[in-house]
Amino acid sequence: MTASHRQCSRCARMAEKEAFSRDRTVRDGLQRNCKCCARILKRQYRSTPEGQMQESTYNRTDRRKQMWRDQYRKRKETP
Ligand SMILES: [Zn+2]
Repeated sequence: MTASHRQCSRCARMAEKEAFSRDRTVRDGLQRNCKCCARILKRQYRSTPEGQMQESTYNRTDRRKQMWRDQYRKRKETP
C-alpha cells in the first residue's frame, strides 16, 4: 500500500487518490467512496423517496431563482 493510493469503502478497490472526490469534513480530506461508486450511490439515492424529494426541492429553488432574475431584468429594462 502506498500513500498515493487509497481503498474505496464500497468496492474495496485500491485506487489513486485522484479517483476520490474531496470531502473537507473528513480527516484525510477525501471521500470514502471512489468517484465511480459515488456516482452510483448518488443515482441510487435519487431513486429513493428522500432523494426525489430533495431533487424537487432543488428544482423549486432553482425556478424561484430564475423568477428573481427575470424580475430584476425587467426592472432594469424599464426606465
Ligand atoms: Zn469504489
